[in-house]
Amino acid sequence: MRPGNNGLFIPGPTNLPAALRVAMDLPLEDQRAPDFPDFTLRLFDDLKRVFRLDRGQVFVFPGSGTGGWEAAVTNTLSPGDTVLASDIGYFSHRWIDLCRRHGLNVDVIDVEWGEGVPVEQYAARLSADTNHAIKAVLVCHNETATGVTSDVAAVRRALDDADHPALLMVDAVSSLASIDFRMSEWEVDLAVSGSQKGFMLPTGLAIVAASEKALAASRSAACPRCFFDFAAMHAANREGYFPYTPATTLLRGLRASIDMLFAEGLEAVFARHGRLAEGVRKAVDSWGLKLCAKEPKWYSDTVSAIRVPESFNGNDVVNVAYARYNLSLGIGLGRVAGQVFRIGHLGWLNELMLLQAIAGAEMAMRDLGISVAAGSGVAAAEEHFRMTAGPVSLPTPENIQKN
Ligand SMILES: *Cc1c(COP(=O)(O)O)cnc(C)c1O
Repeated sequence: MRPGNNGLFIPGPTNLPAALRVAMDLPLEDQRAPDFPDFTLRLFDDLKRVFRLDRGQVFVFPGSGTGGWEAAVTNTLSPGDTVLASDIGYFSHRWIDLCRRHGLNVDVIDVEWGEGVPVEQYAARLSADTNHAIKAVLVCHNETATGVTSDVAAVRRALDDADHPALLMVDAVSSLASIDFRMSEWEVDLAVSGSQKGFMLPTGLAIVAASEKALAASRSAACPRCFFDFAAMHAANREGYFPYTPATTLLRGLRASIDMLFAEGLEAVFARHGRLAEGVRKAVDSWGLKLCAKEPKWYSDTVSAIRVPESFNGNDVVNVAYARYNLSLGIGLGRVAGQVFRIGHLGWLNELMLLQAIAGAEMAMRDLGISVAAGSGVAAAEEHFRMTAGPVSLPTPENIQKN
């Protein structure tokens, strides 16, 4: 281990706050104890508030986001069902692959990576589908590979305009608890998340929220499922228990995480992510580089994928940053491998932590001969953070004297 912190700026796992580590440093507990439901029932309720889900249910499985995809799909669909999806990046690509392996017929709209979910093409497909063959529409809210945030509300409008009953399934793994997400308002039927991104926890939980419509669909869906079965989970959860051993330590961490998020306020959490992300974008601009995200409307507030000049490899930037400066950045994934490197800026983070990532990226790029001016990104981000820091009461000569 090298001295000092490893700068963790991959888009998940994110930084683990000391308060959450402490909250999980406790003896293991009896998951069938009579007072266990006092803890879990309130946790389930508060999780719904994070998703902004009024009715329906949030399921917490041991697993990761990938397990959440599987739970959403297998509980509500049957083999042979058609789902509408778009390939906008590595994560949406993998969700499509998972659907196919479960025997679903996926109608994939191929999109140039760097763009968001193609709402107009979704609308056209949905209005043409008068027999309602499409059973679900998939949206990757925040595509972590390209740093692109899509418009979930617009997809809901497309469904409504076509008067289409398909379920709306959203991958919210790298958006929930970091970017505005409104499950009930947008009438999202299934939303998938995990513990290691916005919740600032270790990996280990798949968190899946289901609307009442999704719960109804789960009663007739025929995809085989066992570990991720909503029905078994629902029956046990109703009493505050689980059908098999829950990850109690992580659940205690989740409790503390939600408390932290609510103490800051979800709106303030979103605003903080927006402001930090804008600092990164100012740095990218000052480097003379471009984001993978093609238009500002798609810029992600949780991760920036930064295009390196054509004769360079983004993965080299990541490797040099790690080897020389103990800084972890995200590599390029899938179709944009080599073309980008990523800075994850979600979770427990502030301005000066983020300047560490910007400085390290800048140093690594210069080491490789990419022409960016020393300190240019740091300076641009600094100025943004200074100008948007809000009012501060500076010490006056009188109150300095009083002390
Ligand atoms: C991280 C992530 C996932 C899930 O990944 P796991 O490694 O299984 O937790 C899914 N979708 C998106 C958009 C992600 O960022």
